[in-house]
Amino acid sequence: MSNTNKKHVETVIVGSGFSGIGAAIELKRIGMHDFVILEKANDLGGTWRDNTYPGLTVDVASTSYSYGFAPKSDWSRLYAPGSEVKAYADECALTFGIREHINFGKQVKCSRYDQSANLWETTLESGEVYCSTYLVSATGLFGPPKLPEIDGIESFSGHIMHTGQWDHSYDFKGKRAAVIGTGATAIQVIPELVDDVSHLAVFQRTPIWLLPKPDVVFNKWVKNLFRILPVTQRILRFITHTLNEILFGIGFSHNRQFPWIFKCLKKVGISHIRSQVSDPELREKLTPAYDFFCKRPSFSNVYYPVFNRDNVSLITEGIESIRDDVIETSDGHKHVVDVLICATGFSVFDKNIVPAFQTYGLDGLEIGEYWEENRFSAFQGITVPKFPNYFMIFGPYSAASASWFGMIDTQVRHMSRCLKAAKKKNADYIEVKQEAYDKDVRHIMRRRKDQLVFNGDCTRSRSYYFDKKGDVPLIRPATQLGMWIRSHLVRMSNYKFDQRGV
Ligand code: NAP
Repeated sequence: MSNTNKKHVETVIVGSGFSGIGAAIELKRIGMHDFVILEKANDLGGTWRDNTYPGLTVDVASTSYSYGFAPKSDWSRLYAPGSEVKAYADECALTFGIREHINFGKQVKCSRYDQSANLWETTLESGEVYCSTYLVSATGLFGPPKLPEIDGIESFSGHIMHTGQWDHSYDFKGKRAAVIGTGATAIQVIPELVDDVSHLAVFQRTPIWLLPKPDVVFNKWVKNLFRILPVTQRILRFITHTLNEILFGIGFSHNRQFPWIFKCLKKVGISHIRSQVSDPELREKLTPAYDFFCKRPSFSNVYYPVFNRDNVSLITEGIESIRDDVIETSDGHKHVVDVLICATGFSVFDKNIVPAFQTYGLDGLEIGEYWEENRFSAFQGITVPKFPNYFMIFGPYSAASASWFGMIDTQVRHMSRCLKAAKKKNADYIEVKQEAYDKDVRHIMRRRKDQLVFNGDCTRSRSYYFDKKGDVPLIRPATQLGMWIRSHLVRMSNYKFDQRGV
């Protein structure tokens, strides 16, 4: 392609979920308006655009699941439905003038740093090329929906769907349904199906830890209060943030020092099962044999009671094969089903999942290959040596908060501090120093022994938190408050700044 066919902007952001929108708002805030957001789909919202299964709600209090600078006063309840979260993404993109920067239907194939021009060349599947000084990946955590690897699944003769690609046209009335998986998605979707289907078979490999959901409806009085006196919503946000910080930041990342936090929650989880499930054998099957939070726990008041119903079976024998409309389990039982729902999650930390496209830095180094040979890591979860002018909103070890917005907040702050420092120094080249990166990796390795996943018993959890190397790059061994302070104070001497543009 000739140079004239290439589009030039100062910054390319890839992805228009909350991370991409958050990065864009921050760029505008610091006066960098020349950017484009490349989005593969025809709508914005990332995970909240793609996931539309029945029962979807956010599993973090909505007061914390939002940008601090854009509180939404009319959430219908504390744990808002997915459709409201998606509407919030639309609203923010509109209010902050981000929507007009989004180019839809632009699937990025790869991005390559051109050393001679100090430019990132981002190539789309269509062949189009965008050149930019800065590149920001905001492609989230999840890869494509993952179907279970089960012998014969492709020959299933009934209707099959993944929760991440819900088929709303399917009528469940009177059908024999099966759900594979009992993660945070399954526990939301299963209670929505039981009234319609004639029978529901739930195939559980590993049970999930569940706590009672402290959900409340925000009636018109509460909404009016939030609108007229915004400080009341700020107070509630402070409370939900603090609880998240105690449970997640301290309970998880300082598990060695504060083991009692999760021990208490484990007891709450056990008594939740006892109070909602009458059959002792069922209770036993639903009780996890690993420590609380080895994998993402969730909240629900309606999941366990489902198993008291006559038209629901919990199947814990492993699935051997699928032939036509029959799921055969290891005990030889043949389960005949009309519709199979795979609540089997997504690929996470794997090559070209984070980020979701090939990224070539200095000397043609590809970031996914580099991490495969070494280990997933990034300085403060955002920058990597040899990848100048490149910022990952969600990178390895960037998240220390139960809410995705906590992560966005610290990462975009870190990014804009680098960009502002570059402008001040009249530089257009920003690269994190190798020694800063190495020091951060050593720090994480030292601190991670305090985390629940390394301090507790997670052997029987099959947790997707662990990557192929046994690391947990999804969660930084830190508190959100610690990350927030660091993002404000991170020393710019950790970076090389230069003037390289031609
Ligand atoms: P997930 O947590 O990865 O759970 C997948 C489930 O499928 C697990 O129970 C897994 O069993 C099971 N599974 C996978 N392959 C299987 C096989 N071959 N045979 C039998 N079982 C199999 O996926 P998810 O529930 O979709 O959740 C994905 C992420 O979305 C999580 O991070 C969750 O927290 C998040 N989420 C967030 C919200 C929200 O409101 N913010 C809502 C829902 C989900 P094993 O455990 O044995 O592997």
